[in-house]
Amino acid sequence: MTELSAYPPHDRWHDWHELDARAWPRKVERHYTLVPTTCFNCEAACGLLAYIDQDTGRIDRFEGNPEHPASRGRNCAKGPATLNQVDDPERVLHPLKRAGERGSGRWERIGWDRALDEIAARIRNALTEGRHHEVMYHVGRPGEDGYTDRVLKAWGVDGHNSHTNVCSSSARLGYQSWMGFDRPSSDFANAEVIFLISSHLEAGHYFNPHAQRIIEAQGKGATVICVDPRLSNTGSKADHWLPAWPGTEAFLLLAIARLLIEAGTWQRDFVRRWVNWQTFLAEEYPERPCEFASVEQALLDHYSEYTPERAEHVTGIAAGHIRQIAEVIGAHPGRFSSHNWRAAGAGNLGGWQVARCLFFLNVLTASVGTRGGTSGNGWNKFVPTAPKGAPPLGRWNELSWPPEYPLAHHEMSILLPHFLNEGRARLDTYFSRVYNPVWTNPDGFAWLEALKDPAKVGCHVALTPTWSETAWFADYVLPMGVGAERHDVASFETHAGRWIGFRQPVLRRYAQITGQEVDASSRTHQFNPGEVWEENEFWIDLSWRIDPDGSLGIRRWFESDERPGEPIGVDEYYGTMFAESVPGLAEAAATAGQSPLEYMRDRGAFAVPGDTYQPYERAIDEVAVAGCHRDELGVYRRPGTAGTFDGSPDAYVRTELAPLGDGSPAVEIDGERKEGFPTPSKKLELFSTTLKDWGWPEYSTPTWIPSHVHWEDLDLEGDERILLPTFRIPTLIHTRSANSKWLNEISHRHPLWIHPSDAEKLGIPPEGLVRITTRIGHFVITAWRTEGIRPGVVAASHHMGRWRTDGAKGRSWSGGRVEIVNDGSTWTMRRAEGMHPYPSDDADTGRIWWNDAGVHQNLAFCVQPDPVSGMQCWHQRVRVTPAEPGDRYGDVVVDTSRSREAYLEWLALTRPAPGPGGLRRPLWYARPLKPEASAYRLT
Ligand code: SF4
Repeated sequence: MTELSAYPPHDRWHDWHELDARAWPRKVERHYTLVPTTCFNCEAACGLLAYIDQDTGRIDRFEGNPEHPASRGRNCAKGPATLNQVDDPERVLHPLKRAGERGSGRWERIGWDRALDEIAARIRNALTEGRHHEVMYHVGRPGEDGYTDRVLKAWGVDGHNSHTNVCSSSARLGYQSWMGFDRPSSDFANAEVIFLISSHLEAGHYFNPHAQRIIEAQGKGATVICVDPRLSNTGSKADHWLPAWPGTEAFLLLAIARLLIEAGTWQRDFVRRWVNWQTFLAEEYPERPCEFASVEQALLDHYSEYTPERAEHVTGIAAGHIRQIAEVIGAHPGRFSSHNWRAAGAGNLGGWQVARCLFFLNVLTASVGTRGGTSGNGWNKFVPTAPKGAPPLGRWNELSWPPEYPLAHHEMSILLPHFLNEGRARLDTYFSRVYNPVWTNPDGFAWLEALKDPAKVGCHVALTPTWSETAWFADYVLPMGVGAERHDVASFETHAGRWIGFRQPVLRRYAQITGQEVDASSRTHQFNPGEVWEENEFWIDLSWRIDPDGSLGIRRWFESDERPGEPIGVDEYYGTMFAESVPGLAEAAATAGQSPLEYMRDRGAFAVPGDTYQPYERAIDEVAVAGCHRDELGVYRRPGTAGTFDGSPDAYVRTELAPLGDGSPAVEIDGERKEGFPTPSKKLELFSTTLKDWGWPEYSTPTWIPSHVHWEDLDLEGDERILLPTFRIPTLIHTRSANSKWLNEISHRHPLWIHPSDAEKLGIPPEGLVRITTRIGHFVITAWRTEGIRPGVVAASHHMGRWRTDGAKGRSWSGGRVEIVNDGSTWTMRRAEGMHPYPSDDADTGRIWWNDAGVHQNLAFCVQPDPVSGMQCWHQRVRVTPAEPGDRYGDVVVDTSRSREAYLEWLALTRPAPGPGGLRRPLWYARPLKPEASAYRLT
């Protein structure tokens, strides 16, 4: 029974025996049931196996699931730490309702029935009174594909709001402008050159699945290039570390692009076939012959200023090094794999052009959708269809999609407090879900002001697995499960291949395996700790109570087909989905002698069969283009299709708006019909007519936009510096790791990285206190001298600085207690105590040896939304000075009247809708909860 194996074989998961390492040197055998689920601690959704002790019925630990195609049995530290979140002595275990003033810390324990009835009554009133826009669902970590969209659609509410504009709006816009997909899917495993604009190896968007493939490729000889002003773990592991000045990355990339063209190592035939060069020539060089032979010189002229020597001045990277990088890239056509998500894209004004310029290198090297190249996310991410769902909405919520930002990739989430403040609307019922905007977003005190004001937010329901700075000011705190306590389906573009992962409440599944009754009337909170629930069943029950008699037309979307007149259960929902909409799953399940649902409950993930490389080259037959009009550029247009290019100012708009999803089916290339890309031209768009038509003609092609923190604009001889406040570390989650003792023991400090030369010049002693002065206030942090950062730049990880105002609640493992004083528009936060040991049901709380809880720096940042993408431009232009008398570590002082001034200044940079055709937004652009086309008219 003790043979060695990398992982327990699947056929023994229901009864796995092993020796208890903790009993050593005695040989004590333990019996476990292994239940698969997926991790919920970052966006990668790696596979986990819960080891459930058959003696106690409790989860003993989490390890990797070898059946998961993306994570392949491996996890980062945050995966196994799910156990800490399950067992955390201070987690929220029961539904709570506020019993005093908001933020007073007085709570009443209520049952789920009362919580559901009270919230449902509010929403029903709002809907029957036509106040649909007053219901909002604001999500931080979605961790699922489409479930909540389905709920909001059924309610008829355009109320989806997300965290995306503090994360990835810019990168998404950059990628979408090229290829119609808003995320890169990098085939790192097969790449020969890997280009990362981030600390991707330790904090990548799909951290563990990406990191293991990058390292494998490097082991096989791939060259890894990392652009980061900070010597991250990735920078130190890379073959080339390029610490460019923050905000100059696009310049660097365009200099490399120009060198590829100059050297003739660009892939002409790929560009000829798949890039909309005709439009580029017609728009930028109308006097030249519109033939491919004109393109090379046109590109050299277009990018004439991006010489290596000029790039050396702007970026700080030596011209010789830039030439060397270009040679490496040019020598590996088709095998250039790149990625940018947050980092420079999220830090800078114009950061969206970083992704656009990076993907330009993929285009020039013909590394698009190739083995070892970079694909569009839609080719590798697989989203199964929900069993049934309401049609698209006919409403448009300007609180999330304001007319000032027609091209914003996602909701203008960071501006919500300002919009409420200036009376654009109010919220009746506001759900925050796994989201902590008071702590995560910039301008946290503006959030606090809005959330405390019942005239702005009538009722705030926090759906959360943990206490948080935001939940503290809610009206209801409703405990939702972590990765081992909930159902979700998720799939991500982690590598060249499609898969789905199935998250499940492992103790519910264990009950089923051990023969306990689990049926359609069961609820997951009966199996989880306390009354911790999951959103799937919560939304079904809530919707049922909003529309108990079906008169609002909502109930039918939540009704069982198997048991008419009763609510649908999770088994029916996922059973139908897995049986009907996942290619190959029914066959694989039949081979295993199982139903598709049982197969997924048993394995936790499924690799969807099929080759995903270069789908744009797929042939399209005559049937698919029946009834289409073929335009002069070879694009087959369906009558009424959004995205029509007819060269007129009315481009993309037809008198009759198209049904959604009715894209052009094909493009003709060299006499053959091909699938192409989901862009208006069906090709890769070197020239974006959309950007031109919607008011940004100067940014139609890949371009460098000087950042709001461009170094040449700063007083570097004085005390001005660039602050990078965004970098992640591999062992913490944005806001939920406060509940993990292992993670906080490893990581609980975030000193300010500062180059020794800067520290000397600015009079900052080693480990000394530093005052960082921003546009709206200041904070006080300790310094860490390191040569691992470019002089002129300072940096602090964004994870730390968690706080609580109450002595007991929300303490967990990382929340220092603070006192907050409000005087007019001035807010002052001062640390009252750091971490210290305390007694609890977990003996480890008595062993807390660290005191530091960090500094909440985001509070001192104003909103800085990029006028095109809507992305918060996180980097800060700051003054770095020694702490002043009276300053204490952790102090934060902010004036929210100055944050409002800053908001108005950035708002003035926008170029509002309507765009062509009187529209709010280009019809072909992606949008969560995409409404029907008629809602796009700006009336
Ligand atoms: S990378 Fe780590 S935190 Fe993210 S899903 Fe995987 S194991 Fe969980």
